[in-house]
Amino acid sequence: MSEITHWINGKTFDDSAKRHGDIFNPATGEVSKKVAFGTAATVDAAVKSATDAFAEWRHSSLTKRVNVLFAFRELVNTNKEKIAALITSEHGKVLSDAAGEVTRGLEVVEFACGIPHLLKGGFSEEVSTGVDVYSIRQALGPVAIISPFNFPAMVPMWFFPVAIACGNTVIVKPSEKDPSAAMFMAQLWKEAGLPDGVFNVVHGDKEVVDAILTHPGIKSVSFVGSTPIAKYVYETGTKSGKRVQALGGAKNHMVVLPDADLDLAADAAINAGFGSAGERCMAISALVVVEPVADALVAKIKERAVKLKTGDGTKGADMGPLVTQVHRDKVASYVDAGEKEGATIVVDGRSVNPGGNGFWLGPTLFDHVTPKMSIYTDEIFGPVLSVIRVKSYDEALALVNSHQYGNGTAIFTNDGGAARRYQNEVEVGMVGINVPIPVPMAYYSFGGWKNSLFGDSHAHGTEGVHFFTRGKVVTSRWLDPSHGGINLGFPQNT
Ligand code: NAD
Repeated sequence: MSEITHWINGKTFDDSAKRHGDIFNPATGEVSKKVAFGTAATVDAAVKSATDAFAEWRHSSLTKRVNVLFAFRELVNTNKEKIAALITSEHGKVLSDAAGEVTRGLEVVEFACGIPHLLKGGFSEEVSTGVDVYSIRQALGPVAIISPFNFPAMVPMWFFPVAIACGNTVIVKPSEKDPSAAMFMAQLWKEAGLPDGVFNVVHGDKEVVDAILTHPGIKSVSFVGSTPIAKYVYETGTKSGKRVQALGGAKNHMVVLPDADLDLAADAAINAGFGSAGERCMAISALVVVEPVADALVAKIKERAVKLKTGDGTKGADMGPLVTQVHRDKVASYVDAGEKEGATIVVDGRSVNPGGNGFWLGPTLFDHVTPKMSIYTDEIFGPVLSVIRVKSYDEALALVNSHQYGNGTAIFTNDGGAARRYQNEVEVGMVGINVPIPVPMAYYSFGGWKNSLFGDSHAHGTEGVHFFTRGKVVTSRWLDPSHGGINLGFPQNT
């Protein structure tokens, strides 16, 4: 069975791991590969490589960095299908979703190709007689990226193109469930001409994460994952003096007002609720319907949900399996709980089994969900959509704003005034208006509010550039003997 080891200083790095993780093919249930789990010593080796490489990379010209980024962009684009196949084989999502995440990641590489413009500072001439002031932004050093299982290519790509473009060196700790995409991209960076040591990958679990969080050589941590771990990473990393951005979990609400186009809303609920089997931090899991349209909307969603084909992501299914058996069972236990707590189960995915020992769970739709039920309060992270019926816009808004998460939300309406009010009043970081999954383009920044983000910097866009650089302001005075230098108070001829 093949074993995945680390990538340090431009090559694979085998430190004879004593612990390993199983990588499953979620569509068959079989263990397909093993991944080596690193230790503090592995992290140390990666930091040494990243520190050595930083000495040169931070001085590489903007032209050189951009050339490497353009080459990397071309290589990822050319290899998109291969990366997608790797993702599907370890994550389970259907191939089109996997290719889609590579495309979204590429948008960040394209954004980072504009780094010469993004790093331009300000300049104020003659702030005092003969004195100029200007600002520059400089790289931090070795930076770490710790990513979740659900977007093994895209989420690391939210960060590393910008970090590298800014002159930093990078250590990626991918999810141990699907680490191959990061390894593949490491090889592409090398092929693109990135100097060895600028991009490193260390695999592992909590042991490696803890070593990253406390290593004095690592200057910042960009984390994406569940809320309890995000909070832990933020608190531990900042205590060690690092800047940390830690993106956490989500419970995204889609509010449907009575004047909305219900077919559009039903299509959106299906895509946003069940795409990637609901394993998306921007998935819609709570559908807040303002009466009197709930009966009609639930009927339309049901009609569509029962037609979705669950199956092997490589074989033309609409929805793949969940990532592991453990996760599948956790999601199914929420469906059991929702039923026990009194919600109406409209479509039940528990009996769906397209064959084999895959980690199957079909689309599940609940109606008459109330705010105290665990299927509403908790992030489930699976293909489970809950309909909550409310009487007014105000009730819908209060529900969304009182939830602990604030990652994404959407409103469906034909009333521009209501939509505008919602975008203003809702306490959520990313808002869609008749758009169910409002993931910002790379030149804007991605991030939630409340328990969906610890720290104050969102990913990519100008906030990403800001996160991966430190500001410096220079106050400068040059003596100019031809003008006498007199009013500077300096002797002539110096
Ligand atoms: P997770 O929190 O279990 O794991 C994320 C990373 O943390 C992994 O690399 C993992 O190895 C590491 N980790 C796990 N347990 C740890 C521990 N005890 N100590 C230190 N490190 C630990 O998350 P996941 O299951 O891989 O991903 C799903 C979660 O990620 C969901 O909650 C989802 O909402 C969230 N997510 C959020 C966003 C966002 O932008 N806000 C994007 C994608 C995913």
